[in-house]
Amino acid sequence: MTKFIFVTGGVVSSVGKGVCVGSIGRILKSRGLSVSLLKLDPYLNVDPGTMSPYQHGEVFVTDDGSETDLDLGHYERFVNVQLGKLSNVTSGQIYSDVIARERRGEFLGGTIQVVPHVTDSIKERIMALAESSSADVIVVEVGGTVGDIEGLPFLEAIRQMRNEVGRDNVFYTHLTFLPYISSTDELKTKPTQHSVRELRGIGIQPDAIICRSDQTVPEGLRSKIVVHCDVPIEGVLMLPTVSSIYEVPLILEDQGMGNLLSDTLRLNLKDAGRESLNGWVEFVDQIKKPKETLEVAVVGKYVDLHDSYMSVKEALIHAGLHHDRDVEIRWVGSEDIEKDGAESYLSGVRGIVVPGGFGYRGVEGMIDAVQYARENQIPYLGLCLGMQVMVIEAARNLLGKKDANSTEFDEKTDNPVIDLMPDQVGVTDKGGTMRLGVYPCEILGEGASARAYGGSETVIMERHRHRFEFNNSFKVSLASVGLVATGVSPDGQLVEIVEYEDHPFMAGTQFHPEFLSGPTRPHPMFREFIRVVSNGVVKTPNGANSTTNGGNGKDSLGFERDTNSKALHGSQSGSTTDA
Ligand code: GLN
Repeated sequence: MTKFIFVTGGVVSSVGKGVCVGSIGRILKSRGLSVSLLKLDPYLNVDPGTMSPYQHGEVFVTDDGSETDLDLGHYERFVNVQLGKLSNVTSGQIYSDVIARERRGEFLGGTIQVVPHVTDSIKERIMALAESSSADVIVVEVGGTVGDIEGLPFLEAIRQMRNEVGRDNVFYTHLTFLPYISSTDELKTKPTQHSVRELRGIGIQPDAIICRSDQTVPEGLRSKIVVHCDVPIEGVLMLPTVSSIYEVPLILEDQGMGNLLSDTLRLNLKDAGRESLNGWVEFVDQIKKPKETLEVAVVGKYVDLHDSYMSVKEALIHAGLHHDRDVEIRWVGSEDIEKDGAESYLSGVRGIVVPGGFGYRGVEGMIDAVQYARENQIPYLGLCLGMQVMVIEAARNLLGKKDANSTEFDEKTDNPVIDLMPDQVGVTDKGGTMRLGVYPCEILGEGASARAYGGSETVIMERHRHRFEFNNSFKVSLASVGLVATGVSPDGQLVEIVEYEDHPFMAGTQFHPEFLSGPTRPHPMFREFIRVVSNGVVKTPNGANSTTNGGNGKDSLGFERDTNSKALHGSQSGSTTDA
C-alpha cells in the first residue's frame, strides 16, 4: 500500500515548502524506499507554461515534455527521480477535466459541485500517480498557504484521503513561519497557532509542524507549539534559515524526521539518523568548507527574480562543487548592457551564461554579451536562447550579415539564422505547443561537447522547450567562421549544439541541460564549462587579459551523473511567454 505525506503551508508563502518536500523525499529514499512526488497548484492556469517568469519563476520541464512548477526541479534534484505530467496538478487541469466530462454527459442528471466532483478528481490524480509510479511513498505538496480560497478543494480532498486509504497511510505536515520581533528579541508562535487552527477547522490535524525562522529557535518554543497545536514533541521540527538548501534534509533528519515518519506510517524502517544520508553529508561538508570563489555572470532579462533561473543557478553550484569551487553569480540585466555596454557589467567575470528566454526585449544586450565573451576568450555557455544569440552574433559580426536575426524577433530579416521549425508554422495556440521534453542528440567533433559527454558519436538525451531552430542553410557559412555544429539530432536535421573550437569554451545548446543537473551529479556541460572557468582567463577592468591561478580540474567528490535520462519521448507541443 502506498503511503501519502501531505505538506501544507501556513502563515506566509516563500518559506521553502518545495525544498522541505524534496528533503522529506530525500530522507525516505536514503532509507531505501521508492519515492514519487506531486505538486498540487491551486491556480487556474492549466500549467505554468504561459506564465511570465515574474509571476511564477522558472518553468521546469520534465522528460515527458510537461511544463511544470519549479518545485519539481527541487524534487528531482533532491530525490534523484524523473517526474512527469502526473506530478503537477493544477486547478486549471481539474476544472477543465470536470467540465469536459459534464459536457460529454458523464454526470447526466447530476449537479456538478466542488464536493464531490472536484475533490474526487483531485483524489483520482493523486491515486493515478501512486499507481503509475508504484512508489512506496508519495510526498504531496499543496501550493499556497492555508486560508487561500482557491486552495480549499485541495485541502478538502487531502482531508478525505485519510479515511479512504487508512489512518496509518497518511501523514500531514504543516510548514509555518515564526516571525521575529526585534524590540522584544523574540520569535512568535501565534501566527503558527492561528494557521494550525485554520487547518483543524478544515478537519486536518497535522502530525508534524515544521517551523521556519530566520533565527535559532529557543527550546521553550517547541513545548508551546506542542500545547497549542496538539502535536507530539517529536512532531515539532525547527528549520532555521541556512546558507544552503541542501542542508535541509540533514536538519530534519537530525531532529528525527525519518523515525517519526517510519513510526507514524508504520514503515518499519530501522532506527537511524543522518548516517542514513551518506553521500549527502559529505556533499554538505563540501558546500560548507572554504574554497576559491568563481564569479560567473548570468545575463538575462528576468534577473531581478533569481527564481526565474532556478535550475541554472543550481546547476552552476553543482558544477562548482564538483571542482571544489564556490560559484558566485553576478546577475546582469541584458537591457542594462544595451544601455551601458557589456564591459560595464561583465568586466572581471570568469565565465558568462546566457540562459533561455522568450520575446525580443533584452536580446540585443545578450548578443553584446556573446560578442564580449567571444572577443575576450571568456568561457561562455548559452542555453537555448543563449545558443540562438550566439548564432545571431556570429552571422552579424563574423559573416557581416548585419540584419541577421531570429524570426521570433524580426519576421522579415533577409538572414533568418534562427527560424521557426517547419511543424510550428501555423501553430497559434500558445499553451503546450512548443518542442518539449527529451529528444536525442548525437555529439560530433572533438570540442567541448565531446569532452563533456565522453566523446564523438555519443548519443545523449536532453530536455527541450523551444519553438525556433538553427537554420541549416547557414550551417556551412557559419562553420567557415568557426561556429560549428557539434550536436545534431540523429537524423542530422536539427542542430542541437554549436561551439567555437578555437575558444577555451564557447558552446550553446538548443536544449536545457540545467534541468538534468543534480547536487551530486553535475551536468556534463556545466561541469566542463566550470572546469574551463576555473582554469580560465579573466578580462580585468584595465583591459588586460590575465591567467588566473585557477583549478586543477580535480573532481573532488568523484560523483558522476547518468547522462542518459531514461525517458518518455516529449510530445511535439508547448508554449511561450514574454514578460
Ligand atoms: N524563444 C526561443 C524559442 O522559442 C528560445 C526558447 C528558450 O530559450 N527556452 O525557440
